[in-house]
Amino acid sequence: MINRRQFSKALGVGAIALGMRNSMLASREEAPRIAITIDDFNLFGASQTIAEKRNRALLDALQSRSNLKAAGFICGKNVDNDLGKSLVTQWGEAGHMIANHTYSHWFYPNYSFEQFSQDVLRVDALIKDLPGFTKRFRFPALKEGDTVQKRDKMRAFLTEHGYRMGYVTIDASDWYIDQRLRARLAKAPEADLTPYKQYYLDHLWDRARFYDNLSRKVLGRSVKHTLLIHHNVLNELFLRDVPEMFHNRGWKLIDAADAFGDSVFSAMPNIVPAGESIIWALAKESGKFDNILRYPGEDDQYEKPKMDKLGL
Ligand SMILES: [Zn+2]
Repeated sequence: MINRRQFSKALGVGAIALGMRNSMLASREEAPRIAITIDDFNLFGASQTIAEKRNRALLDALQSRSNLKAAGFICGKNVDNDLGKSLVTQWGEAGHMIANHTYSHWFYPNYSFEQFSQDVLRVDALIKDLPGFTKRFRFPALKEGDTVQKRDKMRAFLTEHGYRMGYVTIDASDWYIDQRLRARLAKAPEADLTPYKQYYLDHLWDRARFYDNLSRKVLGRSVKHTLLIHHNVLNELFLRDVPEMFHNRGWKLIDAADAFGDSVFSAMPNIVPAGESIIWALAKESGKFDNILRYPGEDDQYEKPKMDKLGL
């Protein structure tokens, strides 16, 4: 696999003579940029030893990629105990951003604004003194409200409490691949997991290209991306391969704090139901892309038939 830099170099001046498009010669600076954000910190009932091993594997995978700094969006109920707190603290101490993903991981459309906003404050109290804590907020399942009133009340509430949005630009279904992989491991602990890794990487690459192309169409530029993945077994095994793949294919890995500086994270699209990837939402708001926007943006229903077919 030849990366974009080597490719451009190999083509050299001859390429210009051949009339290659400028995009083919894109410099490293013009490459898409991507940060990793990790949600939930769900330990799936793992023992302390297994949970600590998984946490360490995730942290090591990021550190091995030039000490890349991610953002962890913490679901309070998963870490409201000594073990959970110590695992999250390790992320803060390693320089990663710690942010708010509600206490109960409720689907906002099923709850009132009053219930939901109190749940946001409940996790704030739990994580606000951790190293790396930053007032960024991400809605569970990226669902930001099913009515204009509920959507706008939460926007005002977050602003009032000093929070900024922790939008996802590249949404994906790693959680579903993880679910299938864990089911396989439960039945066959010695199963060959290579096909899961390949499916995962192909899926992320496919989604990244989709949202990056959409960003260029809607905003006329490639935003600083935030990829959504989860603290799970799949990433314990394969997170190391994720930045590696993006790097090898010419994307630039950036820290989450850098990505969140992009102006796209201040956008407040006027759509209902509100949510999904911020790129999806802005595309929806424009009214110009309904032919390519599925709802939800990402879901197990899109991956299930493909994984069934592959016997995964
Ligand atoms: Zn979540």
